[in-house]
Amino acid sequence: MSVIDDTLKANEKYAQAFNLGNLPMPPARKLAIVACMDARMTVEQMLGLKTGEAHIIRNAGGVLTEDAVRSLIISYKLLGTREFMFIHHTDCGMLTFKDEQLASSLRKSTGTAAVVPAAFHTFSDTAEDVRAQVEKARSHPWIPKDIPVRGFVYDVKSGRLSEVK
Ligand SMILES: [Zn+2]
Repeated sequence: MSVIDDTLKANEKYAQAFNLGNLPMPPARKLAIVACMDARMTVEQMLGLKTGEAHIIRNAGGVLTEDAVRSLIISYKLLGTREFMFIHHTDCGMLTFKDEQLASSLRKSTGTAAVVPAAFHTFSDTAEDVRAQVEKARSHPWIPKDIPVRGFVYDVKSGRLSEVK
């Protein structure tokens, strides 16, 4: 049996006890988070959030990609979020390779180039990259200046979140 089959079994149990069917669509705490997809972060548990309280946008690195911008804009404009948070973390996989390295390895193994993704958004300094994402969000013309944007690094060893100033 595959892992996906296991998850389907687990979902059957989940659905039997489910009682969150009446939550409204807008996040109750008006918070949107862009976080790395790292499997060691359970964002809701880390931050004391419950189902229905926040938008959590995840990708490799927790980067403000074109798709993450799209989601943040929809999040505030149509669903009323009022604060944005970026979360990177220690020991991130994005520190372990370079964009060009991965692209060239893919070109070699597949024998072809690809237009997208245009970048993998690797970084070499975690805190510095959090600052860069915060800056990108703050300076985006479609993100209002009155939405606070704050950046953090999560320590996968201690479970603690530190703000990047
Ligand atoms: Zn990561």
